[in-house]
Amino acid sequence: MITYFLLWIFLAVAVGVYASNKGLSFGSAFVVSCIFSPLVALIVVALSKPKMEVIEQRSILSGEHKQCPFCAELIKPQARVCRYCRRDIPQAQCTTSLPASSQEEYPSQFMDLIRWFAVTVFAFLVFVMIMGLYMMHDAMVKASAAGQFSQGNAQQPP
Ligand SMILES: [Zn+2]
Repeated sequence: MITYFLLWIFLAVAVGVYASNKGLSFGSAFVVSCIFSPLVALIVVALSKPKMEVIEQRSILSGEHKQCPFCAELIKPQARVCRYCRRDIPQAQCTTSLPASSQEEYPSQFMDLIRWFAVTVFAFLVFVMIMGLYMMHDAMVKASAAGQFSQGNAQQPP
């Protein structure tokens, strides 16, 4: 039982990471995995279009790439000539000339980590709650069965 749930959570995290790599929300994929099933979430993620702007944004923030100031394509940070438009790249160019809204949406990888952690803790709490309810229900069924048994046998008039 526990092994099954751990596998479920593990698959949910795996689908979440897959979604995150496609530029989609880790949290949504994780929650969908937990509530429906990792398979359902995997299909949903696989059918979703990757969000290129999120992936590009991430590679700029991580310093993997920078944006060409002329054609806005992603190029290597060491590049002196853009490989797309063949123009010289000024070396002191500010690379993160992005709209403020998109920077607010994806502030940093640290915030992402906190969000992932919160979602994981939340999912764990839900899992514990469901397990608790299940056990309580089980105990109540047993108790009521035992109660009926003793009532039927040992009920004495006062
Ligand atoms: Zn260019």
